[in-house]
Amino acid sequence: MPHAAPQAAKLRTDRPRRFFSVRVRLMLLAVTATLPLLLLGLYNEGRDRKERIDAAYTNALDLARQGAAAQNEVIVSARSLLRVIASARASFDIADGNCSQFLARIADPIPWLQTISVAGLDGRIVCSAVPQALGLDISERQYFRSIIEYGGFALSDYFVAARIKTPTITAALAQTGSNGETTAVVLGLLDLSWFENRAKTFVPASAAMLMIDGSGTILAQYPNPRDIIGRKLDGHPLGKAMLARPEGFVTEAAPDGVRRIFGFVQLPDTQTRIAVGFAESDVLARVNSAMWRSFAEVGFIAAMVLVSIWFGGERLLVRPIRALAHTATRIGRGDVRVLAARLPWAAEFVPLATALDDMAGQLHIREHELRASNAQLRELAEVDGLTGLGNRRAFNERLAAEWEIAFERRQPIAILMIDVDHFKSFNDHHGHICGDDCLRKVGGALLDGIRSGALGSAPEHDTELPPSYSRVGAAVRRADFAARYGGEEFAVLLHNASTDIALRVAEGLRTAVEKLQIAHGGKSAGFVSVSIGVASVLPEDADFQRDLVERADAALYRAKRLGRNRVASAVTVLSEAS
Ligand code: GH3
Ligand code: MG
Ligand code: MG
Repeated sequence: MPHAAPQAAKLRTDRPRRFFSVRVRLMLLAVTATLPLLLLGLYNEGRDRKERIDAAYTNALDLARQGAAAQNEVIVSARSLLRVIASARASFDIADGNCSQFLARIADPIPWLQTISVAGLDGRIVCSAVPQALGLDISERQYFRSIIEYGGFALSDYFVAARIKTPTITAALAQTGSNGETTAVVLGLLDLSWFENRAKTFVPASAAMLMIDGSGTILAQYPNPRDIIGRKLDGHPLGKAMLARPEGFVTEAAPDGVRRIFGFVQLPDTQTRIAVGFAESDVLARVNSAMWRSFAEVGFIAAMVLVSIWFGGERLLVRPIRALAHTATRIGRGDVRVLAARLPWAAEFVPLATALDDMAGQLHIREHELRASNAQLRELAEVDGLTGLGNRRAFNERLAAEWEIAFERRQPIAILMIDVDHFKSFNDHHGHICGDDCLRKVGGALLDGIRSGALGSAPEHDTELPPSYSRVGAAVRRADFAARYGGEEFAVLLHNASTDIALRVAEGLRTAVEKLQIAHGGKSAGFVSVSIGVASVLPEDADFQRDLVERADAALYRAKRLGRNRVASAVTVLSEAS
């Protein structure tokens, strides 16, 4: 099989490369399996985030509404107060200084009330808790005009008193005469810094409160950095968003620069908006920390799963696969005694282990059959079917092998060419069947002769020696080799045999055949005999092998010529033994 090796190499190089080991594949599977969980986690986090922001909006709006309600409370209170003053003032003379004192006494204890004044129909302040206000003209103010025209109650917009930086609002109520016409206007200046303090009671410390008027001016802020009050917010995105609707939500940077989630409402009867906002970072901080915690949990679990797959996979998958591969390798190397199925495999590996065992069994049987058929073939190739001796081919092989040994040991090697005398005639007389029988007997005699040490000092048959050895005298020597060379011709190979020894062996064999006493009945009057040609040489050159055979042949021819039933060498002729 000269192509087998390159073909195997080609197969090896052509084998498709696999990049991912079983464990890596399992890991990919685990990651793929946990991906939906991760996505679900992300989705939940997103929902949670939105819910928290929505909750912050709702919370902020609720607080803004509370603020508006508190503010409204003040306005309602102011209206009631102004109504009381309006009805009580009728009993006072405006020019009377008592009027101002009366108003101051009322205004003083009320925290949200800066001052109370009364204006005449011409818009001039005629009586006030604050003396500086006397004579002030408010006839152009929107709320005053509204009162003069429609009577009832009106509110100014909020405004920041520039001097004291305090946000204020003016509440105005018409004082009516007995016939219902407006006779004067009672004014209350409400202090919104009170509102800032009030804001502390309902706005949590983490939140901020902001109040702007219809023009976007900051009226109040809590916590309150003072210099912010009075600043305009109309161009600011927060101000724009707040003024665009009566109530709603917005996430924007507050005037203090902090991004907040605001809920805002409009105060009743005014353009003022009150907003409460939570710092976006505070709201999201909890969501973010929850999100990172859940990511860390998923990451930890994923890492644990991957580590378990890596080490568990080594133990539970890779090792059994390696063990099976090892078993297959052992079988491949000819160790067919393995019994893989006896080991404690996982269920999926059992069929493979069983298949390997079956394969080993089959290989064992095949090997057995192969050995048997090899032996059979060898026998067919090397053993002569009729006599059981080696055939000519076996003889030639043996000669080549013995030649080398003899060459190395510097020992002589000898060949005996043995031919049955007048065998044609024997056949003619007895028939071929008998002829075959005769050949078997002659072959047997030759074999016995060389095994029993036909070298003269014949030893006893020694059953303890292997068949290819014989005992010659006291020495054990490898048995010589006898073959049927063709037809009725035999050949014997003697190692370490000089011509003399060979002649002696030949003589022993000749005698052995003769002693069979097979009646010839043909040309020879006596028994079947053989002629033997002997040649011996000290091997030097491989070419001399043929020469040796030819010389033995020539010696045989010589023995025939000299009368048959004799032994001859190229130089020597032994006389007939009889
Ligand atoms: P010589 O003494 O000169 O050797 O005479 P011979 O008759 O033996 O020689 P020859 O070569 O003329 O004849 C050989 C004969 O051997 C011819 C053939 O019939 C016979 N023979 C050869 N092979 C077999 C065999 O396998 N069986 C039988 N029965 N006879 C065989
Ligand atoms: Mg012959
Ligand atoms: Mg013959």
